Amino acid sequence: MRHLLAIEGLHPPQIGQLLDLAESYVLLTRSGKTQRDLLRGRTLINLFFEDSTRTRTSFELAGKRLGADVINMSVSTSSVNKGETLLDTAATLNAMHCDLLVVRHGQSGAPNLLAQKVDAAVINAGDGTHEHPTQALLDALTIRRRKGRLEGLTVAICGDIAHSRVARSNIHLLSTMGSRVRVIGPPTLIPAEAGRLGVEVFHDMNAGLAGADIVMMLRLQRERMGGGSGGLVPSAREYFRFWGLDAAKLARTKPDALVMHPGPMNRGVEIDSAVADDPARSVIREQVEMGVAVRMAVLDTLARSGANG
Ligand code: ASP
Repeated sequence: MRHLLAIEGLHPPQIGQLLDLAESYVLLTRSGKTQRDLLRGRTLINLFFEDSTRTRTSFELAGKRLGADVINMSVSTSSVNKGETLLDTAATLNAMHCDLLVVRHGQSGAPNLLAQKVDAAVINAGDGTHEHPTQALLDALTIRRRKGRLEGLTVAICGDIAHSRVARSNIHLLSTMGSRVRVIGPPTLIPAEAGRLGVEVFHDMNAGLAGADIVMMLRLQRERMGGGSGGLVPSAREYFRFWGLDAAKLARTKPDALVMHPGPMNRGVEIDSAVADDPARSVIREQVEMGVAVRMAVLDTLARSGANG
């Protein structure tokens, strides 16, 4: 594996190996140990053209725990604001001999373009509506640790599927690993290609959640809805009534179903606080912990397969 640009195209053994390695990093981190030799002398640059809390911080922590020199490039204060193109920025980063480049960009495909132009190993940290591969890996690790498997589970992904790179990466990963994937949302927020992705489509929460093992809630990605979200979604109140996860809707799932959310959450819009904060059902905090371990596993794997090093 030279880069990690998408989940689509990965095979079950590659996903399984990344999850196994991430599992070992969960145990290492919990025992208070680090492995600072692994990326000693390597440089990791976080290049984020869009906002991020969890992803950027966890790549930084992951890099540091493996001994890399980590640089966070703040795009809002960089020359990108002076009109520099993505490819010129890439050439500049290349000249600095960066080994691992973590990129988040509003345009789908931007990390793929960079991967063709830089010597570094490129990791997609979310590109437009396309993919967010490390999110799907951390979600899978969270599920696998709690349920012991991915195969045969029914996973309901709910809300703004159309604009969600998290949904797309999860659909690819979970279907590849043998889960049954359902998507639930208003017709305006389900992409036309949903049928082709091999998922079951529901427009009714109660029907879609029936018997589910896992419920993944998604934020309304208003920033990607172009010209305002008015035509695509009703008011926040109305949206919550039909599509928001509360205790009554959760009661349709299996009694031990897990509640997940990639963050950031909009409480009272797609999820009720009582459900999000219920320690018996919600694994939202655990997802964040798994995020660091998964990113350590990805950095480790790319470094071993020769990231510019
Ligand atoms: N943090 C996730 C992403 O960057 C989900 C979201 O923003 O709603 O795609």
